[in-house]
Amino acid sequence: MADYDYDLFVIGGGSGGVRAARVAASLGKRVAIAEEYRYGGTCVIRGCVPKKLYVYAAQFPEHFTDAAGYGWTVPEASFDWPTLVANKDKEIARLEAIYKKNVVGAGGEAFHSRVMLVDPHSVYLVAEDRTVSADRILIATGGRPAPHPALSGHEYCIFSNEAFDLKQLPKAIMIEGGGYIAVEFANIFHGLGVDTTLVYRGQEILSRFDMDLRRSLHETMEKKGIRILCHSVSEWVRKNPQGRLDVLLSGGQTLTVDQVMLAIGRIPNTENMGLEGVGVELGKTGAIVVDEYSRTNIENIWAIGDVTHRVQLTPVAIHEAMCFIETAFKNNPTAVDHDTIPTAVFSQPEIGTVGLSEDEAVKRFPDIDIYRASFRPMRHTLSGRDEKMLMKLVVDGASRKVLGAHILGPDAGEMAQLLGIPLKAGLTKDDFDRTMAVHPTAAEELVTMYKPTYRVKNGERV
Ligand code: NDP
Repeated sequence: MADYDYDLFVIGGGSGGVRAARVAASLGKRVAIAEEYRYGGTCVIRGCVPKKLYVYAAQFPEHFTDAAGYGWTVPEASFDWPTLVANKDKEIARLEAIYKKNVVGAGGEAFHSRVMLVDPHSVYLVAEDRTVSADRILIATGGRPAPHPALSGHEYCIFSNEAFDLKQLPKAIMIEGGGYIAVEFANIFHGLGVDTTLVYRGQEILSRFDMDLRRSLHETMEKKGIRILCHSVSEWVRKNPQGRLDVLLSGGQTLTVDQVMLAIGRIPNTENMGLEGVGVELGKTGAIVVDEYSRTNIENIWAIGDVTHRVQLTPVAIHEAMCFIETAFKNNPTAVDHDTIPTAVFSQPEIGTVGLSEDEAVKRFPDIDIYRASFRPMRHTLSGRDEKMLMKLVVDGASRKVLGAHILGPDAGEMAQLLGIPLKAGLTKDDFDRTMAVHPTAAEELVTMYKPTYRVKNGERV
């Protein structure tokens, strides 16, 4: 083997990159990692983690209201946005330090620098003005919010990155998009008392989820007071003399808000890092093209996480990192398994889901049994909150295999994590039926729905 400075050089200190660097270093490999912004990447710094903290913050007003049914008198509550932002910053800084420390603690070297590929075995560290060499290079530079240059006035808009650190909470916000980020932030801002409008181009929010959940969440969000405008896009955004923003929507309606947030997807970070010069193949969206082992077209260059535009989720990037380690350093080629990924949308109420939606299942299987329960969670009996929980199992009538499990309601994300195991294992509805319930819980409904609510045979509901 040629004499390289490192066995592995990782570009990007997010969840995927840090995991790969830390584990490779713990195997005794000579590892370096470089991050140009902050260790922890999108998930820790301006994604999942701060988002979840803000979700908790946004839930308190409902808790205060619900407490009355349980005998509590809660004095009038007030909210201070700068306190939330400052406390979030402290927690993020703590996690950031841990991420870096973990790599260094395992024996790796961590740089703060932008990195450019020079050739398949060398990278240039911009902040250090020097080039180092590595046997293998792993690109884990993640992604960023998709811009919207076609929108006149897009320069007045913010993305999720900025939403976390606004100087002050807007009185009114419009959010464009109908995916994870748009829906989660609509619930956060509304919960914090902001007049919130969600503008979505399609027929129903959250296009990749089961229609039952999408409709029920939409209804519940509207009942809470979030305005949702489907079949709608913004035509232009203009600053008005009062310093607020006017937005013209495709239906002719004008909104006046303090912030417009765009959440129309995320794009991979592959620009200006020398990929083209080295000949790394990029796909149509600019994402790095990789095989099932996360290897690029260049033998010793690999890529994982959002920069490859496969499934943009933190746990997926981490899984890809672990498969990379097995393949590259443990002589155990391990293809990435993207099948049956549990996921959650941290809306209010939450969505937790794994496997096929009813519509997808019906396309693939001639005989589908749907088990569906809609009920008021026990917690809301005394609180009086008029909110239903929805649970749904999608079962293949022939094999009895549970193909999909979909939940809307409190702690749905936690349940989706656990449901991921039986679905991944390919268990059947009979296995669910044989499982004893935990009483009283909401989740017990998942093992007590004995009769199908309806069947879908060759696309026809019977
Ligand atoms: P999504 O892909 O989830 O949603 C993008 C939304 O923007 C869709 O509703 C899409 O509409 C709409 N859209 C796309 N282009 C336009 C356009 N030109 N004009 C108007 N609307 C448009 O992306 P997000 O930005 O919400 O999130 C990015 C990724 O981050 C997600 O895919 C997810 O993997 C990850 N994420 C995960 C979270 C979690 O696990 N809880 C939380 C946040 C993010 P259409 O449906 O019609 O395509």
